[in-house]
Amino acid sequence: MKSLNITIPKNILTTVSGVAGSGKTSLIRGDFAEQYPGSIVIDQSPIGTSIHSTPTTYTGVMDEIREVFSKVNKFAASWFSFNSKGACPVCKGKGKIKYDMAFADSVEVICEECNGRRYNETALGYSYNGKNILAAL
Ligand SMILES: [Zn+2]
Repeated sequence: MKSLNITIPKNILTTVSGVAGSGKTSLIRGDFAEQYPGSIVIDQSPIGTSIHSTPTTYTGVMDEIREVFSKVNKFAASWFSFNSKGACPVCKGKGKIKYDMAFADSVEVICEECNGRRYNETALGYSYNGKNILAAL
């Protein structure tokens, strides 16, 4: 890459896209990573098949968010996880319920208890800067 000037915003999720072979990986894994070593870079490799994964859990940012909610609200961090105490009791934090049909493909519907929010009411009752834990999804 020669004579390339780009602007990449900080503190938000940003995507770099382009045609194959255009140098995206070289740019981000090379020059960008060297200049901004604290950045979290996600490449095209599979992130796994867990339905519980979100960009914040995959990058590890969610752990920090849970700690902030825990500290500010003086409530255990596990309440701010839909994989733990904060999970909707009906869908167990999945936000959806899957029904196996005897003679047809299974059907998945939005959980009526949490409306797909994945968290229980206790977890949703706490906030940080006016937003509850849903804002982190
Ligand atoms: Zn639910």
